[in-house]
Amino acid sequence: MRMVDIIEKKRDGFELSKEEIDYMIQNYTNGNIPDYQMSAFTMAVFFKGMNDRESTDLALAMLHSGDQMDLSSIEGVKVDKHSTGGVGDKTSLVLAPMVASLGIKFAKMSGRGLGHTGGTLDKLESIPGFNINVSDENFLKQVKKCGLAIVGQTGNLTPADKKLYALRDVTATVDSIPLIASSIMSKKLASGSNAICLDVKVGSGAFMKNEESATRLAELMVHIGKHAGRSMTAILTDMDEPLGLAVGNQLEVIEAINTLNGHGPKDLTDLCLEIGSYLVLDAKKANSLKEAKEMLINQINNGKALEKLVEMVGEQSGDINYIKNPNLWTKAEEIIPVLAPKAGYVEYINALEIGVAAMLLGGGREKITDKIDPSVGVVLNKKIDDYVKENDILAYVHSNGKNKEEAIKKVLNAYRIGEKKVDKKLIIKVIR
Ligand code: URA
Repeated sequence: MRMVDIIEKKRDGFELSKEEIDYMIQNYTNGNIPDYQMSAFTMAVFFKGMNDRESTDLALAMLHSGDQMDLSSIEGVKVDKHSTGGVGDKTSLVLAPMVASLGIKFAKMSGRGLGHTGGTLDKLESIPGFNINVSDENFLKQVKKCGLAIVGQTGNLTPADKKLYALRDVTATVDSIPLIASSIMSKKLASGSNAICLDVKVGSGAFMKNEESATRLAELMVHIGKHAGRSMTAILTDMDEPLGLAVGNQLEVIEAINTLNGHGPKDLTDLCLEIGSYLVLDAKKANSLKEAKEMLINQINNGKALEKLVEMVGEQSGDINYIKNPNLWTKAEEIIPVLAPKAGYVEYINALEIGVAAMLLGGGREKITDKIDPSVGVVLNKKIDDYVKENDILAYVHSNGKNKEEAIKKVLNAYRIGEKKVDKKLIIKVIR
């Protein structure tokens, strides 16, 4: 077999066999196929696509390119969730303790943020002392003992995806549905959980800008997961404004704590309850979605969900006092209000622009080696459909000086104020 023939076949729009896909991924992982051939291939896929069978074979080839987490020694159904990336998305920090507090094992490997989207690991690392580098052995021990661990990817999981993702990032081939689906699903399958819920974001702050492409991505990922024997749910959710109010690492952890205390923003709370209900159902702890949701609400009201977060933070060497008393966090030097230029309804908040503003302030990275400032970010004071008078506060910029003026401008420009209310829906559809 020759890589040049595989590239040519895909360039001309033909279907690749499983053998061809396996050959390509094995030889790319071990260095026999160079980056320049692989980039030509990803560009061919970008233009010609892949069918469900090819995408599934690609995901499985990447899954088998390295080690897999073996969770079989942990009793019961193990659950996991994944978000395709958004702005203000602290769902895992709320959802995972809420679900785990019901005795359901939540074994999660998360990523870092890049560009305008935040990463769960960066958020967790704003908790003083919190350790995300946990060995496989300790990861298993912690999930058995406390029912919950959120860690960085360990060992040699999906090395093909690591190489391929870095290559796509610099060759303008990230935005391809078969490549995104196989990349995400290879990692989710390698992490070993039985039931997976995918939060597929749609809108200005997401990879998928419209419902049609998000539906195709969600259906493909559900197909790949089911083929590998997992219980799969994908929920399409709106990312035409940031989720919740806070955008920025420690600001988002504090919002997650407030949500676990029952005082979170409505959209964040609703989304966590929705995703959580499917996981509770798939873990066979409830007979209906309604019952599952009631159980989760109860875990917030009786304080057990927050207790589970405290327990996890303690297990991973974080200072639990910061969770019990969020006033301990050192705030940014300046908290600057951004004012409404005119009266009207907030029609739209460009999530991408808010994410970029938080990144410019020092809350995110342009390069993987950039250092993060945990205390900076943006806290929205008005969301879509809120009415504002001229000079009302739209949002607060939490700044330590870096790129302050540019960030304020971006936040202001992110808001569109108009005449009428829009009919906004957070949960667009569910695919199972
Ligand atoms: N997230 C991933 O893990 N892979 C992609 O290709 C896109 C988003």
